[in-house]
Amino acid sequence: MEAMTDLSIRACARLLLAVAALAALCGAAPASAEVLRLNQSLCHAVSPIESADASLPTLRFSCSGAPAGYQHDSLWLRSDHRQWASGQRSVALMVHHSRFDRLAVAFSYADGAVRWQQVRQGDYGSHWRAGGQIVFEAPDRPASVTAITMRFDRLAAHDLVRAHILSRDQSSMQAAGMAAATGAALMLLLVSGIYSLSLAVAVRRQYLAWQAAWAATMLLWGTLWSQIHLALLPFMAGTVSAQLCTFLACLAIAVATASAVTALDRSGVPAALRRATLALGAGVGLAGIPLALMRSGDLGYWGDVLGLAILGNLAAVAICLGWGWRRGSIEARDFAAAWCLPMAVLAFIHLVDVENGFWGGGSKLAVLLAATWQALWLSAAATRRLASLRIERDHARAAEAQARELARRDPLTGLPNRRGFIESVTPLLDRARADDLPAALLLVDIDRFKSINDVHGHDIGDVVLCRIARRIARWEGSICTVARLGGEEFGLLTIGMEGIALDRFAESVRREIAACDHSASLGDRTVTASIGVAEVRPACDFQRLYKIADDALYEAKHAGRDQVVLQRHAESGGPKPDLPDREAVPLG
Ligand code: GH3
Ligand code: MG
Ligand code: MG
Repeated sequence: MEAMTDLSIRACARLLLAVAALAALCGAAPASAEVLRLNQSLCHAVSPIESADASLPTLRFSCSGAPAGYQHDSLWLRSDHRQWASGQRSVALMVHHSRFDRLAVAFSYADGAVRWQQVRQGDYGSHWRAGGQIVFEAPDRPASVTAITMRFDRLAAHDLVRAHILSRDQSSMQAAGMAAATGAALMLLLVSGIYSLSLAVAVRRQYLAWQAAWAATMLLWGTLWSQIHLALLPFMAGTVSAQLCTFLACLAIAVATASAVTALDRSGVPAALRRATLALGAGVGLAGIPLALMRSGDLGYWGDVLGLAILGNLAAVAICLGWGWRRGSIEARDFAAAWCLPMAVLAFIHLVDVENGFWGGGSKLAVLLAATWQALWLSAAATRRLASLRIERDHARAAEAQARELARRDPLTGLPNRRGFIESVTPLLDRARADDLPAALLLVDIDRFKSINDVHGHDIGDVVLCRIARRIARWEGSICTVARLGGEEFGLLTIGMEGIALDRFAESVRREIAACDHSASLGDRTVTASIGVAEVRPACDFQRLYKIADDALYEAKHAGRDQVVLQRHAESGGPKPDLPDREAVPLG
């Protein structure tokens, strides 16, 4: 297990490196796509919300400073043809969806023509793409596109606008790549969520339920962020989805925190640290509500404050996991390995601007993929832990079975003891009674055994007992069950044998025991046995059978030993009288 975890941690580290390398590659914007940035390739203007789109030529654009006072009006962002390759006809503009009421895009052509396209809250038409983007393709005309202008009505924050210009082919490729990556990630999240939930129900562990809730939250977040839900719910396009995304992102962090903290053994982490981490997580979750509702104000500032709170929360979770790990918690190690990639990704997207990378999916797609990794890793880790629990359970069962078997056997002779004998013969007697079959118990007691101990010692007595036990064991079979019932007394139970056959069998047992060769331990002394036989038809319970056989044995001892006495009883269905129909038959 230890080695397995070390191996998996090394595998995780290697994967991290690979992902970092991939991120470095994908983080860059697509080769020939042009990223639009304010004051670099974008100039801005603000107009009253009532002004018509046709007022575009009359606007005075500024290419420096930050736009202000546009949250209740219209913000115009214009990119001139000088910034991209001249003569490019099949131009497309890709904008990440953000919080606005309406976005209208004007493609201006060299011949003076202007073509408008627009989306508004609740209606993105055919412009939305899986991956959270809105695409506007310049209509084909003989003249080339010379400028692209975006008009945002009631935009929440200009610094949240991400847009780039690329060719139509590139835009279709990016949309396809994004759809594939997002679809795969969401499907894996769904599977791992269902798996965690079924595990939570099966093994009744709270943290697995939190894990399932986290996967569900991420799934919902990913669906809304990527806009895949618009295929079914087109009216949710725009701000509502963006607001829900903000809330779900915060909720996911709160739920992930609960999942990690509840996975740790209470005794392994100080209660104050647990409570503080859970409180921080809950705080981040609750902060998502006002932040989601915010339509104006300094969204960027509050976003940064929330970012700091999230980093604090992640640090608290990391301390909890480290604490648990040092105390030997397997869950802590698994969670640490699962969280390392999302943490690395979070750090990465804070340090490197990847918003235009990952086929245009930016940091959101990176976070979604990291979350999928986390969900899969945790599912795999839970399976591994279950497997080790199953192995432990199998060992415990085997040990229990061994202990039960030992409790049923006599350690000296290896034969079943009285308890084992009763356990084995009770069902046989029940069945025989139901089938109206006879049962017989042969009680074999060694004659004058005490004197063997007295003369030759207890050890030699043991050797003699074992030799006789080995002989008796050979009668064990489908119709005969044997045991050492205590001291120097053995029992043989037969089902279906009666009359002369039983007489002969009992007599042969007596003879065979007497014929055992003890010369190596006792010299020329022979060892005989007396046998009391109870024959009852139909079979009765063991206690009654034993009492009859014991009486018969008593008679055999009194008649001079080394003989068989048989008592035959016919059982009636009514209450058992004290040994009815008794017929004592001395044999031999
Ligand atoms: P009888 O049955 O013929 O009346 O005489 P006995 O001497 O066999 O009967 P008794 O019941 O008086 O003695 C049984 C002896 O068996 C007493 C005890 O010391 C001995 N014994 C019981 N269990 C063991 C054992 O495990 N090993 C040895 N060596 N002796 C045992
Ligand atoms: Mg005895
Ligand atoms: Mg005896």
